[in-house]
Amino acid sequence: MIVLDRVSKRYAGGVVAVDDVSLRIGHGELVAIVGPSGSGKSTMLHLIGTLDRPSSGSVLIDGYDAAKLTDRELSALRATRIGFVFQQFHLAPGVPVVDNVADGLLYSGVPLRRRRDRAEAALVRVGLGHRLRHRPHELSGGERQRVAVARAVVGEPAVLLADEPTGNLDSHSGAGVLELLHDLHRAGTTIVVITHDREIAESLPRQVRMHDGAVRHDSARTSAGVR
Ligand code: ADP
Repeated sequence: MIVLDRVSKRYAGGVVAVDDVSLRIGHGELVAIVGPSGSGKSTMLHLIGTLDRPSSGSVLIDGYDAAKLTDRELSALRATRIGFVFQQFHLAPGVPVVDNVADGLLYSGVPLRRRRDRAEAALVRVGLGHRLRHRPHELSGGERQRVAVARAVVGEPAVLLADEPTGNLDSHSGAGVLELLHDLHRAGTTIVVITHDREIAESLPRQVRMHDGAVRHDSARTSAGVR
């Protein structure tokens, strides 16, 4: 599903944010990439999400080699196969949540009416079937993040990437969002969660620990042999 082969990312100024990382994430896994600030987690998210290209090494997403695609093809890959959830929700203010979620299908070629139907179904799935016409500012933080998750999964992406998805939430709402990610995982979605929070990481089935741009520990390697 996701294969990183000897991936490095150097920024101008010589910072090596990701240093020779090889990692495989299989179909249907729920994985935490965990590490302290500055360890390279966001850079990993950008590389896996094809928002950024590696300086060396290769990134394969759902069988596609990101290095071999044009910018336009990469955008299409992102739009159809990768769902993103961010700490800051990134919902359009003043827009009913059903339309916020329907926008997740904007580049999919699905007609408007059908986009709304699918958005409603996605909102029901995240427990917000009773909030379709609410606007983001009328919702709690936890509800907003559920909307963001619905928008990320409405197109049934191959992989859901969540960057500190509970970072802006109180612990109760955060636990609810994590439970939602577990539900999606049980239903077969492949999910990668970026977090600095070890407790959250440990609640997920697999942890990849980063430090100084390198993978220091991968729980899958110790529990299931070499991957
Ligand atoms: P994390 O998400 O774990 O906090 P990052 O991936 O953001 O880590 O950063 C890893 C390292 O790369 C840090 O030393 C950071 O300062 C550096 N870095 C991140 N983005 C850039 C950039 N655009 N230009 C230069 N250095 C960067």
